Amino acid sequence: MPLETLCPDILVSIAELLTSKDILQLSITCHSLSKILYYECLWKSLCSSIYGISYKHPNQTYHSLFRSLDNPGNSRLPCPHIELLDIHQTPLHGLLVDKATDPVSWEGVECHECDVKGINSLFICMSPECHIILCQHHAKSHASLRCVHHNVFFKPNIGEIFCFSCIDWLGNECANIAERYKEEILNDHWSIVMYCPSYRQKNTSDKLRRREERIVRWRDSPHYIATSGRPICFIPTEWMNTWEQYIEGWQTDHPPMIDLRLWYLSNGYLRPNIAFNPFAPSTTDITLISWDTWAYLENNYPILGALLTENNLSTQKNNNRWSTYLEVWKRRARGE
Ligand SMILES: [Zn+2]
Ligand SMILES: [Zn+2]
Ligand SMILES: [Zn+2]
Repeated sequence: MPLETLCPDILVSIAELLTSKDILQLSITCHSLSKILYYECLWKSLCSSIYGISYKHPNQTYHSLFRSLDNPGNSRLPCPHIELLDIHQTPLHGLLVDKATDPVSWEGVECHECDVKGINSLFICMSPECHIILCQHHAKSHASLRCVHHNVFFKPNIGEIFCFSCIDWLGNECANIAERYKEEILNDHWSIVMYCPSYRQKNTSDKLRRREERIVRWRDSPHYIATSGRPICFIPTEWMNTWEQYIEGWQTDHPPMIDLRLWYLSNGYLRPNIAFNPFAPSTTDITLISWDTWAYLENNYPILGALLTENNLSTQKNNNRWSTYLEVWKRRARGE
């Protein structure tokens, strides 16, 4: 019996045994088999069996979802672990409703497994009927020891969702629209239960800012900084550490202004005790960032004092040693 005369169900069952490449080949053999590309149930089944994803954005077809999963470029694949989280399952534990409407009252709340306290340090397992409150360390082991349904956590101080298996925040701007859609639904549901309206509103605008800054910060790989073609900029490591704490949700509020004046003596020279060593992030007082990141910071944070870049380093007394460090760092970052 010729393939094209088979009923769609049988054709789909056969196609499910093929690779996506074979299906595409099959679809171009004749007009009637080209219809196979429009069998949504086939693509849904492939998304689920190959990538573990069967949720999608309403504007996506499963075929377009499959194509984006098959060819994700530099993006992470959508998190398969939120697949089974459903807003209609068991409502949140009453404790959370009472505590989280006022974040200050979280001060006494501890990790279920140790004595880590405070809303900034705790996560809530989003698995229905679990909702255990844990510190990062214990959330990680909870995710790896329990079955797949316990990987995804809500971070109550910032109202964001983190997957300990994908090791990423979910629903970021660069995530697949399927994940962004699913994350938004879950997040809205949790936020309504967790927060009073004014805190929820603040959280939503903070979240947009934090997500944008997360992309800006982690785009700055050594390679990106060294090959951007613009001058490398110097930022106090202490400020960068506070910024990263905010971006990754360990601090609820963004850091205050960037004070570059602390580096300088009254004669305009850098203080001699400032340490610069780009190979030792834990001891250097100065962190390197790209010009693009500097441009973002300049537009979004008050800056006190003048910016130091690799271009105006030559006006400084200690420029020889610093320039040598910088040149070696740049060569390594460029992979030379
Ligand atoms: Zn995940
Ligand atoms: Zn703990
Ligand atoms: Zn759990």
